[in-house]
Amino acid sequence: MTESTLQGRTRIPVAQPVFAGNEARYVADCVESGWVSSNGPYIAKFEQAFASWCGVRHALTCANGTAALHLLLMAHGVGPGDQVLVPSLTYIATANAVRYCGAEPVLVDSEPRTWNIDPAALEACIGPRTKGIIVVHLYGHSADMDPIMAIAREHGLFVVEDAAEAHGASYKGRKVGTLGDSASFSFFGNKVMTTGEGGMVVTNDSALADRVRLLKGQGMDPHRRYWFPVVGYNYRMTNIQAALGLAQLERIDALLQARRDVAAGYQRGLAGLADRLELHNESSWAHHIYWMFNVLLRDGDAHDRDALMAKLDSDGIETRPVFYPMHCMPPYQDDSGRYPVADRVGSRGLSLPTHAALTEADVAYICERLAHHLATRP
Ligand SMILES: *Cc1c(COP(=O)(O)O)cnc(C)c1O
Repeated sequence: MTESTLQGRTRIPVAQPVFAGNEARYVADCVESGWVSSNGPYIAKFEQAFASWCGVRHALTCANGTAALHLLLMAHGVGPGDQVLVPSLTYIATANAVRYCGAEPVLVDSEPRTWNIDPAALEACIGPRTKGIIVVHLYGHSADMDPIMAIAREHGLFVVEDAAEAHGASYKGRKVGTLGDSASFSFFGNKVMTTGEGGMVVTNDSALADRVRLLKGQGMDPHRRYWFPVVGYNYRMTNIQAALGLAQLERIDALLQARRDVAAGYQRGLAGLADRLELHNESSWAHHIYWMFNVLLRDGDAHDRDALMAKLDSDGIETRPVFYPMHCMPPYQDDSGRYPVADRVGSRGLSLPTHAALTEADVAYICERLAHHLATRP
């Protein structure tokens, strides 16, 4: 928590990591042993533990979630001239990773209920240059994977799951990360679990995993040290980061439960505002892990949303706007009007504080302030 105090209350940050397990001990172990770079025992331990928790054959650490996406796209063979379908409503890294390959991200609108890529809109965007799809499980709620996988298989497209925000989320009882051909996770400081900066690639495809391993380690031949048959990258994670990650993963159930509890508190506290707020709720087939608990103004525009955020800020409550859709960003500008759902969510949505250090009293206070501001809104 930040130190500044408002009316006797500590400011409530929108996100915050919680280190309540072996984090400090494992990190100290790296320093004491001298294994601080990308060799060292915690890398393999973290990869094995993550693979088994996720239920996949291969998990490969990397520098961050963006690098994980870039590695996967390269490993799936994406290059100049190719197109990859991505939701417009996502974090910029999803689209940027496609550009890093010299390929073109083709933006697709979302469905109103889950805010995730709309399977109906998806098929219309497929053309002769389409190579694959990146599905994002936005804010911890899985996309509707069955129709997406059916479309992908019919057209011979690969599916990468961008699960940066969805550790532990599931779809029809199956964990995200196991639903497409491959998946990426992020361990940035505001994600469900963190390594400071960090990412993970997961897949059941051994050949794909081998390509990722080659590319993330400068392209060094696995059987001949210091021999480089291809141009690779330095996208490795350090042993220190993996130490942090292993300790976080040991407590993942508690971290996830804390978020579910926060979400339940919001659902109770905001139930009376249903005429004013739409909640980003869980579909019947999903297990939502609430990376961020989001609300949408039923009436109003981005100006009203921003004004509400400013009022909450003066109450000591930090919030975030829901992602600005990619078609609004200068590098991906598209004024075609093909994204009504992304536009609506992007302009009216805000993310409330969601993390494992929030107390019931914090959540009740946030709900009370929200109710107050919405009641006094003209
Ligand atoms: C955080 C995030 C990423 C990128 O992860 P980094 O570790 O910050 O590089 C990618 N996609 C989505 C949807 C994210 O939220």
